[in-house]
Amino acid sequence: MTLIVYNSLSRQKEVFTSLKPGRVMMYVCGPTVYDHAHLGHAKTYVAFDVIVRYLRYSGYEVRYVQNITDVGHLLDTGEDRVLKRAARDRLEPMEVVETFARSYFAAMDALGVTRPDISPRASAHVPEQIEMIEKLLAKGHAYVAGGSVYFDVRSFPDYGKLSGRRLEEQEESGRVDTRDEKRNPEDFALWKRAEPEHILQWNSPWGRGYPGWHIECSAMSAKYLGETFDIHGGGLDNIFPHNESEIAQSEAAHGATFARYWLLTGSLTVEGVKMSKSLGNFTTIKQALQTYRAEALRYFFLTGHYRNPIDYSADALEAAAKGWQRLIAPAIAIRERLAAGGLPPGEIALAALPEIKTRFLAAMDDDFNAPAAIAVLFDLSRLANTLLHPAEGAPPAAAGTLVAIDALFGELAGDILGILPAAASGGGSPAREAALVRLLIDLRAEARNSKNWPLSDSIRDQLAEIGIALKDGKEGTTWECA
Ligand code: ZN
Repeated sequence: MTLIVYNSLSRQKEVFTSLKPGRVMMYVCGPTVYDHAHLGHAKTYVAFDVIVRYLRYSGYEVRYVQNITDVGHLLDTGEDRVLKRAARDRLEPMEVVETFARSYFAAMDALGVTRPDISPRASAHVPEQIEMIEKLLAKGHAYVAGGSVYFDVRSFPDYGKLSGRRLEEQEESGRVDTRDEKRNPEDFALWKRAEPEHILQWNSPWGRGYPGWHIECSAMSAKYLGETFDIHGGGLDNIFPHNESEIAQSEAAHGATFARYWLLTGSLTVEGVKMSKSLGNFTTIKQALQTYRAEALRYFFLTGHYRNPIDYSADALEAAAKGWQRLIAPAIAIRERLAAGGLPPGEIALAALPEIKTRFLAAMDDDFNAPAAIAVLFDLSRLANTLLHPAEGAPPAAAGTLVAIDALFGELAGDILGILPAAASGGGSPAREAALVRLLIDLRAEARNSKNWPLSDSIRDQLAEIGIALKDGKEGTTWECA
């Protein structure tokens, strides 16, 4: 099957091919760690988690890099977010960074978001950023003014190719005091002169200072993924100036294409306005997890396409949680039925299963269309329900049939979307446990047939010790958990 992705750079769907066969190099802009992560972050990183999971499921080896911004990300007032928090709480800036980086990973772990392979920090890559700025200066794409270094936007004619915006006033780069030093208002800071009282500062060829926000992503992606790599992800709200500036810096410095595919996610909004720390309209992931299971939260985000915004409200989340419950309940019921044992052996091959899997994968291959994939999973749920509640007089479903459905739930809802509670998917699943007990029952039967009573008794007794009771009857041996 062919994977199609919507490339925000070309503004159209394209067939995805990786630069190196079988290998995907992927970068996603990470969080600025100056507060606890909220549901807006959760929407973004769950979306990329599913994308990474699906690429890996499809057979790609993925190197997933996601940065941690711990310096240089300024508020509209020109204050550094981390430093402002440090001053307020009387902490070292690195204490702030450490606290909220840990909090971020804890929240992502709780959401079942696979950790990036590399989580580089901006403050740990200052030499790489300085080196890249020197390259831009040497190539005439940057200039020094008053101890700061600015990118000369007019030297890069492609500026604006991602966002469609050009030569607009930069919001980020330091306001009134620096505006006069810039050649043109659209130029943005690569390096900023630090006042003596500024806590986080480094030596540079241009004096004491600190890096601008955009340059970290250019420098760190080049270091870990190469000058040209496959996928760049991030929130659509960062397309300008951040992503646009990343492209300009990287392509001007290296003279090569930066990211080949741009995958950008829509925001989580509250009454139409983006959920954000600065607006105060946020719910932290920790708070949400006190009421809802991680899988239900993931389901809420995945019922919308990743490129679209989702409007958050308590009612919308509650409704999604109920939908998730309806989808998953039959999967849990099958798991419990299998664990209880006593089902007729054998498997009736269901033609619907491969067909459901094909449709699910076709949805995911179409720009990771999780909502369409979830709609297919509802067909699997309906099928499971029919088997769990056979018509009057009909025989109960065979164990093997339920095992096959359990395995498919595990693969699609569990491994790919991460919306199935862990115990029902992947390793250590009840289906696997049931199969193992079945195997031991068969071995015991063989032992009995060859009159090896000590072995057959030992199997029965040892199973009893771990809480599994065997019952011999006319129809063969069944088992149940004590
Ligand atoms: Zn970035």
